[in-house]
Amino acid sequence: MSHVVLARKYRPRSFAQMVGQAHVVQALGNALRSGRLHHAYLFTGTRGVGKTTVSRILAKSLNCTGPDGQGGITAQPCGQCQPCRDIDSGRFVDYVELDAASNRGVEEISQLLYHLQVMMVAKGLTLEDVYRHL
Ligand SMILES: [Zn+2]
Repeated sequence: MSHVVLARKYRPRSFAQMVGQAHVVQALGNALRSGRLHHAYLFTGTRGVGKTTVSRILAKSLNCTGPDGQGGITAQPCGQCQPCRDIDSGRFVDYVELDAASNRGVEEISQLLYHLQVMMVAKGLTLEDVYRHL
């Protein structure tokens, strides 16, 4: 019997499926439709509010090529093209999710910096659970 984690099975795959966070969805939708995108987005909030979900949908929006392969940046990723499917399944090479809560040692940060240099063409990097330590 196959087992799929509930959060993965029921994770919204488009902005339209998002419940809550309407202000975030609207702001990102406007940015995507107008082409006025920032170089980085910082999502904050308590566990379960949708930071990772929004990050993945945003990654799909930026990388979607459309069902016919002719699409571009969109607020409504198709979910059918190769980039959309790969991001949904967690194997898109240009989109990396890194658990920064457990990868914060000097060695891990050195490796992260190295990988960032290697993947300069990457279109998405998500650092999960980044905390500021004073
Ligand atoms: Zn797509």
